[in-house]
Formats: sequence, C-alpha cells, structure tokens
Amino acid sequence: MDYDVAVIGGGPGGYAAAIKAAKLGAKVLLVEKEKIGGVCLHHGCIPTKTLLDSAEKWRQLHSLSEFGLTADNLAFDFTKVKERMNQVISQLERGILQMVKSSAVEIKYGTAVLEAPQVFKIQSSSADMEQYTAQNIILATGSEPIGLPVPGSNLAGVLNSDQVLSLTEVPRSMVIVGAGAVGLEFATAFKSFGCNVTVVEMMPQILPGADSDIVKRLGFLMRKQGFKILTNTKVIRLAQGDDALEIEVDNGKNAQVLTAEKVLVAIGRKPLTEGLGLERAGVKYSAKGIEVDAKLTTNVKGIYAIGDVTGKSMLAHAASTAGIAAAENALGGQAAVDFSAVPACVFTTPEVAMVGLTEQAAAASGRSIKISKANFAANGKAVSMGQIDGLVKIIADSGNDQILGMHILGPHASDLIMEGALAVTNGLRAKDIGRTIHPHPTISETIMGCIHGFESPKVY
Ligand code: FAD
Repeated sequence: MDYDVAVIGGGPGGYAAAIKAAKLGAKVLLVEKEKIGGVCLHHGCIPTKTLLDSAEKWRQLHSLSEFGLTADNLAFDFTKVKERMNQVISQLERGILQMVKSSAVEIKYGTAVLEAPQVFKIQSSSADMEQYTAQNIILATGSEPIGLPVPGSNLAGVLNSDQVLSLTEVPRSMVIVGAGAVGLEFATAFKSFGCNVTVVEMMPQILPGADSDIVKRLGFLMRKQGFKILTNTKVIRLAQGDDALEIEVDNGKNAQVLTAEKVLVAIGRKPLTEGLGLERAGVKYSAKGIEVDAKLTTNVKGIYAIGDVTGKSMLAHAASTAGIAAAENALGGQAAVDFSAVPACVFTTPEVAMVGLTEQAAAASGRSIKISKANFAANGKAVSMGQIDGLVKIIADSGNDQILGMHILGPHASDLIMEGALAVTNGLRAKDIGRTIHPHPTISETIMGCIHGFESPKVY
C-alpha cells in the first residue's frame, strides 16, 4: 500500500483528520482539488465573519454619541474591507499549511476519484491521472450550494454564497432567498453597509429548526433594524426588469413582485458526492450524503466519511471533530461522535447560539421538562456595553434536573454557548451550573440568572 491513510478533501474535516492520523504515526496523504482550508476558510466561516466584523464596527460607530464619543468624517471603503478579508484568509491558510506540513502529511493537489475500496486516482492539471492505494480512505469532500429551482435563477445578478463574496461594491438592494444562518449573516453584513435587504423564507419562521422564542425575538429585532422579512413565502420566478431584477413571490394568499439589484440564493447546501467514484467502491450514499455510523465508518471496510459530505451537522467544528475521530478509528480506535450536542452559532446582530434540544423537540421527546428564561436587559455588563437585547433560555429535565438545551440571543452568544455545550455534552444538571461561580460583571451572569429562574420554574 502507498499510504496508511488517504484523506480526500482538505477542508476543516479533512486537514484535521490528516494531522491526527500523522500524529498517530501513520503515513498520510491529503488530496485537495482547490485550496487547503476548504469552504470554511475560503467561502464560508472566515470570509463571512471577517466581513461581519467590519460591518459590526461600522454599525457601532453610528452609536458613538451614546457612549459620550464623537468622530467626524466617518466613511467605509468596501474595497479595503474586502482586502482585509482576503488578507485574513491568506494568513490563516499559511498557518494551516504550516501545521499540515509540519505534521509530515504529504499533500497532492488534484481531484481524487475512487476506483475500488483501497484504490483511487488523482487528476491534477499538471500530470496524467495517477493511481494510488491506501489501507484506509477518509472522504471529506464537503458540500456545494443548492440552486433555486425556478425560472430565471441563472440570470446575471442571481448569486450563491460563493459569488456574493466576490462583489466589489455594496449593492443598493438585495433579496436574500433563505433565512437560515448563511442568509441571515449576509443580510446582517450588507444591511450594515447600507444595502436595502429583504429576506424571503418559505418556512413559517426564520432560522428554521431554532427555538421559537429566540427566533421570534430575533425577527422582532431585525425588523426594528429595518430588514423586510417575509416568511411562509416562496419565490416563484425571477426576471430581469429594466433597472433591477424582479422577484415574484407568493405567500399562498397573495403574489407580489419585489425588485432588487442582486438576489442571493441561500437555501442550503448539498453533500458533494458526485464524481467521487462511490459506486465503483461500493459506498452507500443518498441525496442526504454518504451514510456513516457514529464511528464515521461507511458500509465499506476501511472507508470513512466526515463533515458536510455526510450531511450530518454541516458545521466546521462538527467536521473537524468527526475528522479526528475517523483518523483514530482508521488506526484501530473506537471513537464515536455524538452529533446531538454540536453547538451552532449565527452571527446576526445580536448573535444567536444554541446547543441541544429546543423546547419544541424536548417536549416532543415525551420528557417532562422545565424552562427558564433570563433577559440581558437585567445584566450589568450588557447594560454598560449598551447591548441589552436578547435572552438566555435553558431547557432541563424536570425529573433529574439534566440540562437538555441552551439557546442564547444576545451579545457574544457565540462565546457564551460553550457553557451550554459543556453541560449538554456531559449531562450536567442545572444545579451544577448554579453552584459554579460566574465572574462579575460579565454577560455570563445571565446564564447564572437563568439557572436561578429554575427555583420557581414553569414545568411543562
Ligand atoms: P469543506 O470545507 O467543503 O471542504 C471540502 C474540500 O474538499 C474542499 O476544499 C474541496 O475543494 C475538496 N474536494 C471536494 N471534492 C474533492 C475531490 N474529489 N478531490 C479532492 N478534493 C476535493 N460553519 C461553521 O461552523 N461556522 C460558520 O460560521 C460557518 N459559516 C459559513 C458561512 C458560509 C457562507 C458557508 C457556505 C458555510 C459556513 N459554514 C460555517 C459551514 C462550513 O463551511 C462547513 O460546514 C465546513 O466547511 C465543512 O467542512 P468539510 O471539511 O466537511 O468540507
């Protein structure tokens, strides 16, 4: 065999798997058809958060007077915002490459295709197709954006999440189709830079699947910030008008035509299974992704799959956790990943973060549950920061006090959620958080306040 472990795809799942396998002493190959870092580094997590950070700073500049500060001649230069975004990506890419190379992982650039369970070929632009063998193969090819299945979706100006990152100017107006995390984050960024944003969602709520209390409050706050949000509304067709794109939408009662300079389609992503030779190797997959068990094994011995290509929890940290587990298992380990405790964050203003069960899912599970909520408006640090919008909501089992879910809308929700992730992953009880001393004055005290609310809980 040429390698002990070959990893196909160099995103956060793939490079984490390759590094782990090499650290365990294996001879490892990492194959990447574009750039190491994958969607997360080049088209996802990092570019969007860099853009959002510039947008948030710009937004905050407009409330300087509340803090007793004044500044004149405020301006932003979108070209420089984009330059910074690209610099951040390059800096992180160099860091990842350094980490991969110093772990003695061999990298080959090209498109890998399976030929048989332990055989694959690599097509690179500079060489003929070459064939290799590996004792174990870890598939980490990620996902791609889903297109909008309506007439006019291929018009110029109708963009997916990769293409929107290439815009060199802030459009005057944008219709965003899909109110999931990706849609709402781009909405937040472009709105802060002055774009007139309308979000169209076919489900009854924004952030489908998130806790309804959090979503209701977020929708209220976003509308207050000037977003137009249409739920229960489908896009029927797109057309090019005289000066703008025309977007025909229907909510089941009325049809209307919206106009916008750009349309962003953010209706989800599909696992990238096509052209990978899965049939030849006998690997089972469906439209939902490559089928794996908790140990990330496919139906074929020695072939593992991780990250977005499995359709399980399509988030970078879920991919890297799965990558590390798959590498261990390929080399004789028995690691299993529990995808029920993956924290998820949405970088809106304010941020949303969640882990574990929503109230709706906990109630549907048949358990007897108790719920507590606490507002940031009562938190000293939040008041001093001028960021009082939002709440913490905790769901616990009313029988054994175990924390089942934590949902946060508010400042730094994406950092605060780690307390919930620790609790849900380790089966902690509400009283375990209650007797943990939270520093003052910090926004984490709202979590403590929420736990104290269980002393007079509403039991369902
Ligand atoms: P990917 O990152 O997709 O990497 C797969 C790699 O495989 C790619 O580099 C691809 O070129 C390569 N490849 C594919 N086929 C082959 C082949 N045949 N041969 C060789 N190489 C191949 N997640 C978060 O956790 N937090 C966020 O804030 C966040 N924000 C996001 C924002 C946007 C706009 C988007 C689109 C996604 C975001 N995500 C976020 C999701 C995150 O990017 C993905 O979950 C993550 O990148 C999945 O990692 P992966 O390793 O499975 O695949």
